[in-house]
Amino acid sequence: MGDHDVDLFVIGAGSGGVRAARVAAGYGARVMIAEEYRVGGTCVIRGCVPKKLLVYASRFSDEFEDAAGYGWSVGKVTFDWATLIANKDREIARLEAAYTTTLERHNVEIVKSRATIEDVHTVRLATGARIRAETILVATGARPHHGTPIAGEKYVISSNEAFHLKKMPRRILIQGGGYIAVEFASIFNGLGSEVTLVYRGEKILRGFDEDVREHLMRELGLRGIKVLTHKIVKCIEKVDRGLDVALSDNAQIIVDLTMFATGRRPNVEGLGLERAGVKISERNGIVVDAYSKTSIPNIYAVGDVTDRVNLTPVAIREGHAFADTVFGGKPTRVDHSNVPTAVFSEPEVGVVGLSEAQAVEKLDTVDIYKNSFRPMKATLSGRDTRVFMKLVVDGNTNKVVGCHIVGPDAAELVQVVAIAITMGATKADFDATMAVHPTAAEELVTMREKAISYGRAAAE
Ligand code: NDP
Repeated sequence: MGDHDVDLFVIGAGSGGVRAARVAAGYGARVMIAEEYRVGGTCVIRGCVPKKLLVYASRFSDEFEDAAGYGWSVGKVTFDWATLIANKDREIARLEAAYTTTLERHNVEIVKSRATIEDVHTVRLATGARIRAETILVATGARPHHGTPIAGEKYVISSNEAFHLKKMPRRILIQGGGYIAVEFASIFNGLGSEVTLVYRGEKILRGFDEDVREHLMRELGLRGIKVLTHKIVKCIEKVDRGLDVALSDNAQIIVDLTMFATGRRPNVEGLGLERAGVKISERNGIVVDAYSKTSIPNIYAVGDVTDRVNLTPVAIREGHAFADTVFGGKPTRVDHSNVPTAVFSEPEVGVVGLSEAQAVEKLDTVDIYKNSFRPMKATLSGRDTRVFMKLVVDGNTNKVVGCHIVGPDAAELVQVVAIAITMGATKADFDATMAVHPTAAEELVTMREKAISYGRAAAE
């Protein structure tokens, strides 16, 4: 190790960085990790975890409503935002402490400081201290990006601030049609806010299966979320009654809060990457190979900063694979295909594999099985809602190459379906699987009628 202070210096103690540091230390490496904010990173501190807690909170309102059809009189219910936020903060502090303890137990030295790369083997801390490192791992994540600034930008919050609002907004406008916009629209809707979702395209959740996009838009509308498409926010002005938001079609909406969820940008600025010769892509992500190695042989990068598949479990896998490769003597690539994903909207979306459009583009023959049905629970509750399920099948091999679910517990369901798809299960395997009755998921093993077949005539 020569003149190096550590074998590995990790910049950023988020999901990817923490896993890499812990596993590398487990292999006997001397590891130091720098974090300028809080240990745990976006997912634990201001992403997946606090978001899911707010999602749980937001779903009680439907349960209270649905209970009536089952004979319950719930009476007057009230909700206290301050209690929810305080409880959520306590849980996040607990998790942060748990992450810190895990690192310490593995003898990873934590420095609470911004760190920048001075040269390929030197990291500089905010104190001016220089650490010589054999290997450097950049795991600095990403941050909200609001696009071109508009007049009244100062009244716009991102999801970061949404977790710490003093008061719940009575009326909120959210711009964006991706994961975060849709999830927060459902959260605030469930908690009782009046929600307007402004999206620049035709259908929310671009990149998802078309049926899923349409189904979710309808469901959001049924729950009272106003989805405005083909529009963007032009400017925002503070007025007596709140914030006056002007849209591109000149419509004006008065709300109490505006939130933008218009994508996230990798955190690459000011890290000294250019100075070290680390290549950055046009989309601002650090360019890496299949082993997460950058253009500089001893500098690696994992997670959102590389702008590959920006999801926590992927960052964790990348961090682990990096440590196995560099410190465990086991070169490991991460398979970025068939990554299951979920949108924690109400109702939930769970997806794994190819959409119908992707399958048609990629495969010679494609069979589509799909159904939309009223969930059993809605029969007595009287709720106007439907569940949607779709299987995308490779017509040549009979393999299920995509599964798309919109409905209760879609995230939980798709996690399990992802195992079957990863193992290469065929539609015949799904059909041979006995149903669990009565469930919504039994639909996945009982869909027999092809809704659409592509390319079959040509193939025959
Ligand atoms: P997304 O990239 O998912 O969505 C951004 C949305 O903002 C899109 O609808 C996009 O429109 C729109 N948009 C982009 N630029 C502008 C603009 N200038 N004006 C108006 N609208 C604009 O980003 P998110 O911020 O929602 O989430 C970031 C990432 O975080 C996700 O991609 C995901 O990887 C991760 N994430 C995952 C979650 C999960 O797993 N459940 C939850 C939350 C985040 P268009 O479609 O036209 O491009």
